[in-house]
Amino acid sequence: MKKLSLVVVALFACSALSYGWGFFGHKVVHQLAIYGLPKQMQGFFYKNQDYMVQKSVRPDERRNSDPKEAPRHFIDIDVFGEDAVHTMPQDWEAAAAKYTADTLEKYGIVPWHVVKMKARLTNAFKQQNPDSILFYAADLGHYIADAHVPLHTTVNYDGQLTNQKGLHSLWESKVPEMQAQGYKLQNKKAVYLIDTELAIWDVVRASHKLFPGVLAMELEASKGFTPETKFVTVERNGRTRQYYSDDFAKKYAELLGPTVAQRMEASAQMVSNFWFTCWVDGGKPDLNKLMDGKLPKAEKKALKRELKSFRKNKLFEEKRVIAAQKQEKE
Ligand SMILES: [Zn+2]
Repeated sequence: MKKLSLVVVALFACSALSYGWGFFGHKVVHQLAIYGLPKQMQGFFYKNQDYMVQKSVRPDERRNSDPKEAPRHFIDIDVFGEDAVHTMPQDWEAAAAKYTADTLEKYGIVPWHVVKMKARLTNAFKQQNPDSILFYAADLGHYIADAHVPLHTTVNYDGQLTNQKGLHSLWESKVPEMQAQGYKLQNKKAVYLIDTELAIWDVVRASHKLFPGVLAMELEASKGFTPETKFVTVERNGRTRQYYSDDFAKKYAELLGPTVAQRMEASAQMVSNFWFTCWVDGGKPDLNKLMDGKLPKAEKKALKRELKSFRKNKLFEEKRVIAAQKQEKE
């Protein structure tokens, strides 16, 4: 029995590693998304910045306790055919009529779940319930960010079908964690989305378009490496696992160019857009009222400093990235 539970824990640990932007990426995305919000929203979200950043990873953590959680983070769209990313009905009812809901659940539902969470956040704004607003904004942001990762749109999600296993965490965790300091992440002001369903499907299509390059660059990078230099082997709990080496990750990142940074910036932009759109559709409630008045002076000043730092692309240099501060402390 004990052995079994260990295996279960190990399995969950693996799956937690294989989905999401990586905790670091999700946290950065939510911090940046707050900077893109209009003034009427920014004070409230900034006041709750720590919550928004820390809870950006809650849907990944929930996977351990909720069996329904996993498919909400991805869509293996190529299972439905080569052109399915363009032909899949965007509407859930229509897609379920074509493929059955069970089949869709099996291969991932991220775009449909984003639409569902969009409705819930809009409703939370309508109800003017601050706890619900924060809860759904954090969850919604997570799923939107996941949809920006190319490997979240394919059945070959870890490179496991092309002998490139481990590619998932290399692309979305190791590379950004190594390189984010040098990224230029400058999402613009949030814009209203007329059609949120179309917006999230466009994200999925853009991610899927990048997928072949994600595989190809791994092959290209491999040319300069031997199996000994390409991988490191780690032994944990009596099991050996193979990971890509730091040197290989550096070479791979170099070949990918700005792709990872661009997807991270696009994630922040889209999260901001969705939060803003939900607020507008929710009747633009006065968020200052929900936090007992305006942001205190000291916090206003701190926000100003952060925004300045953000615009100059100096967030990392000036140690204002919350996810990076936590990493340093650990
Ligand atoms: Zn996720």
